[in-house]
Amino acid sequence: MRTQRRLQPQVSTVYRCELESCLHCGRALMPCHYLSGRKTVQTMVAVMEIAHRPKRCVEPNCRGHQRALRSAGWQQIAPLHSTYGFDVIATIGWQRQQHRHIYADIHSQLVETLSISPSQVSYLYNVHYLPLLACHERQNMAQLHQISAEPGLILSLDGLAPEGGEPQLWLVRELQTGLMARNGWLSEQSQTAFENFLQPIVEQELQVRAILSDKQRGLVPAISTVFPAAKHGFCQAHYLSNIADPVAAVDEGLKVTLRKTVRQEVGPIIRAEQVEKPGVLTMTGLIPSPVPDEQPSRPTPQTEGLGGDGIIPDQAAVTQPERDEIITAFKRRVRYLLTLKGRPPFRLAGLEMYRFTIACAQIPVPEGYHFLQTAKATPLAGVQGFQPEAPDHRSLWIMAPLIPKD
Ligand SMILES: [Zn+2]
Repeated sequence: MRTQRRLQPQVSTVYRCELESCLHCGRALMPCHYLSGRKTVQTMVAVMEIAHRPKRCVEPNCRGHQRALRSAGWQQIAPLHSTYGFDVIATIGWQRQQHRHIYADIHSQLVETLSISPSQVSYLYNVHYLPLLACHERQNMAQLHQISAEPGLILSLDGLAPEGGEPQLWLVRELQTGLMARNGWLSEQSQTAFENFLQPIVEQELQVRAILSDKQRGLVPAISTVFPAAKHGFCQAHYLSNIADPVAAVDEGLKVTLRKTVRQEVGPIIRAEQVEKPGVLTMTGLIPSPVPDEQPSRPTPQTEGLGGDGIIPDQAAVTQPERDEIITAFKRRVRYLLTLKGRPPFRLAGLEMYRFTIACAQIPVPEGYHFLQTAKATPLAGVQGFQPEAPDHRSLWIMAPLIPKD
């Protein structure tokens, strides 16, 4: 941390201890005959040379006589033993936490203003900023106790879904204030783990009125053990999802049946894909496949383009590669529809699949694009053999108006 720097101070300030009377005996405090805490501090605005003149109690028998008191003003410039101002530390913390900047980026910004090394940036963040942040958050304890006394805390408990046996992050948030009461990583989702996680809240003598959480197996008994008097409500999104479960199950059945029917009827047609070479679809990168010779250009310029000038070319004007391209796009759309995934309660794949497949088959075909009829008939042929009104699926159509449109 200590590196030799030759900095020219732009400001030189000597602070005096601000207290006038002894905290123990009440007698007047006397300034000492020496200066203390002389150091050069870099702040975001200037290089400062600071020092302070301490005071002590004049009464030799008083406890206050033993101790020289520092100036508060001096202490507010930089942490003890640090030569960087609090504003530098706050800047590093802000850049890192609000803007998600990495140390190297923060350093390259700061180095325009200050003399600082990359390792000092991470040191200031970890050794000064984070403890200061923790102290700052502790100031909210009073507010938490106030809410606890009246009307009582309402806590939400939530955990991020664990991935592959990783520990799970859990958050306890007070909903009336938005304060984070307790966050931490749990290695398991057992009743014991949840009890150990929640118990310190009770030990702070905080009154919990209600708790909102999901219905994790270990969590429910842990909450009734740790907070026996609190009301426990379950998360509404999970409620909705549970209500939709039977519908989602029917929809899943619809999806499977529909997909099977369509594939049976027209599987070989929609699976056929235009290929560069057998087994190779489209290549990119530094070494793509050679471009095939250009097709002979179309002779009639006034019939060119579909849409741009509003003129639809006649069927003869649509070249074979263009036809292939349109039909390939169509088949891909149908294939995509067969792979839709549901997200109950808000997205039911079976219903969407049915609706979009029908829509695909009902696209109006412009004059001259009769070759599209075959491709259009493809999804419809699959759906025709399918009975959406079968008793199993009937309940689903009640849900149909709730499904978001594409
Ligand atoms: Zn005293």
